Amino acid sequence: MPPAQEVFIGLGSNLGSPRRHLLFALERLARAPAYAPGAVSSLYRTAPVGRREQPPFYNAVCRGMYERTPHELLRALQALEAARGRQRQERWGPRTLDLDILLFGDMIIEEADLQVPHPRLHERGFVLIPLAELAPSLVLPRWGRTAAQLWQDLPPGQKAGQEVERVSWA
Ligand code: ATP
Ligand code: MG
Ligand code: MG
Repeated sequence: MPPAQEVFIGLGSNLGSPRRHLLFALERLARAPAYAPGAVSSLYRTAPVGRREQPPFYNAVCRGMYERTPHELLRALQALEAARGRQRQERWGPRTLDLDILLFGDMIIEEADLQVPHPRLHERGFVLIPLAELAPSLVLPRWGRTAAQLWQDLPPGQKAGQEVERVSWA
């Protein structure tokens, strides 16, 4: 078994009952093999990025310790997405559940089916803001800066429309 790594997972949903989908994912993840759950961020609501004519997104980030490989984690997350009836249609379209590996320890992975740190992490408020909440002093591999610094340094033109609103988990 590889040594345990600290992982950060981004959760998103904008179809059906987003809170329920996210809570389902957190519960199932907490019981997933080789995964030891840690803190979960606040829940954030954001206007959709990319295709804008869809319902608002609900996002959060969770952290945990994982003892298997990054690809095994990816498969476990995809199984949870499928269990929530995710249909893979157009990219960035509406979805019941999206689970992305944001960070896997200090690893930098550049493979066809898996890139870690998540390649668009640095330009997304709905990732950077919950990540900064969970790990304010964590310096991210690849960028060498914290999540809060990355968000601060994002040009205003790229921040526009990415305002996140903290909402209740209840
Ligand atoms: P985005 O990646 O921009 O957030 P998305 O999450 O909607 O878009 P998906 O349809 O969930 O994209 O996934 C498309 C593919 O991305 C998956 O089949 C998976 O192999 C790949 N992928 C690459 N890197 C990662 C990662 N770090 N976490 C999850 N999936 C990844
Ligand atoms: Mg995603
Ligand atoms: Mg995804």
